[in-house]
Amino acid sequence: MKVLILGSGGREHALAWAVKRSERVTEVVCAPGNGGISQIARCVPVDLKSIDSMVRLALAEQPGLTIVGPELPLSLGIVDALEAEGLRVFGPTEAAARLESSKAFAKRFLQRFNIPTAKYAVCTSAVELEKAIDKFHLPIVVKADGLAAGKGVVICDSRQTAVEAAHDLFSGKLLGEAEHQVVIEEFLTGDEVSFLCLSDGKHVAPFAPAQDHKRIGEGDTGPNTGGMGVYSTDDLLDEGMKEWILHHIAEPTVRGMAEEDTLFKGVLYIGLMMTPRGPQVLEFNARFGDPETQALLVRMESDLVDALEACIDGRLAETEFRWTPGASACVIASSVGYPGSYETGFPISGLAAAAQVQGVEVFHSGSALVGSQLLTAGGRVLGVTAVASSLEEALARAYEAIAEIHFEGIYYRRDIGHRALKNRT
Ligand code: AMP
Repeated sequence: MKVLILGSGGREHALAWAVKRSERVTEVVCAPGNGGISQIARCVPVDLKSIDSMVRLALAEQPGLTIVGPELPLSLGIVDALEAEGLRVFGPTEAAARLESSKAFAKRFLQRFNIPTAKYAVCTSAVELEKAIDKFHLPIVVKADGLAAGKGVVICDSRQTAVEAAHDLFSGKLLGEAEHQVVIEEFLTGDEVSFLCLSDGKHVAPFAPAQDHKRIGEGDTGPNTGGMGVYSTDDLLDEGMKEWILHHIAEPTVRGMAEEDTLFKGVLYIGLMMTPRGPQVLEFNARFGDPETQALLVRMESDLVDALEACIDGRLAETEFRWTPGASACVIASSVGYPGSYETGFPISGLAAAAQVQGVEVFHSGSALVGSQLLTAGGRVLGVTAVASSLEEALARAYEAIAEIHFEGIYYRRDIGHRALKNRT
């Protein structure tokens, strides 16, 4: 079977790597892919902002399965468009992807189905927000309704900063495009956990829980990024808590979507805050996370293609999953300056030595192959990912491998997994 993967980051590299291990797969095509992906898959150009461009490519390639990586094509309706052409595609429809593409939709949905989440209000103007704000304690969280690539959330210590943030969102100053709706939310405290599940529209199958590190600086300081690292362990949540999240959050979400005639098929990524009053939903993503996918797929022993097809066909309940027990970690090597401005085009070396470290896979987030030389081509460049029987060992392997890698301006956090390690001592 030929598999087409849409996207160009570390998540797509990990997907291509996992798909390629399936015995049923004869060819992997990634569009547009990147330098690292081109070493294991055929990369072809596509415009991920254009449904026409993606549909044209899929019709020309005729894949047996298409996997959609990023949120933008999902929110534009790529799954609906490819299904209309009779193609098999893994991911939610445009309507189902609203769980991610509209925070107002997600919050109202959570409230309708009594799924735990922070108290909120949806506002359509800064004036409305000023009125709603008095019902909340400070600090308060102001969020863009639409997709914002991690830049749409502002935590405000004063009424004044919240009103300013809302003005910046409504005017387009913050995100480039003007928001029509803004969500304000009660500020929650606790540890954040990423709980990813596969869903076939009726049933869910959870991955191991993971914890990511969004801030650029060690000790979780500095601005937010797309993710500087992640780890996953079997004991990040105890069995009772995993069951609770499954029965009170994941399953009711999928059931609620089905009840409202919007089957959610794909990856349901639940961003949770583990608060003193229990887990609360911070956000949904309607796709594999990046870099969570890198850390989760290296632990998946069963066939990813079988699992994704079971989601499409509504057979998830009959599908068995096998995972490597223990832990995994992914450390992102980025270009200095990221998430602000940074330079690209620097040669990357040491990849072969890094790959020699036991249990390590290096997934490329932003690289380009020019001739036979891999060059940096993004803010996040590589995701050095390791699997082992313990978190300590997985981290040791990832850091041993990343020390072999060089490019000008390489920056990575040396404290991935610090919260879990601290909780153990
Ligand atoms: P979101 O895109 O909604 O997940 O928000 C991005 C990040 O902002 C989260 O990962 C949290 O670190 C933070 N955040 C979002 N909502 C809240 C909240 N209600 N309370 C505290 N922090 C939040």
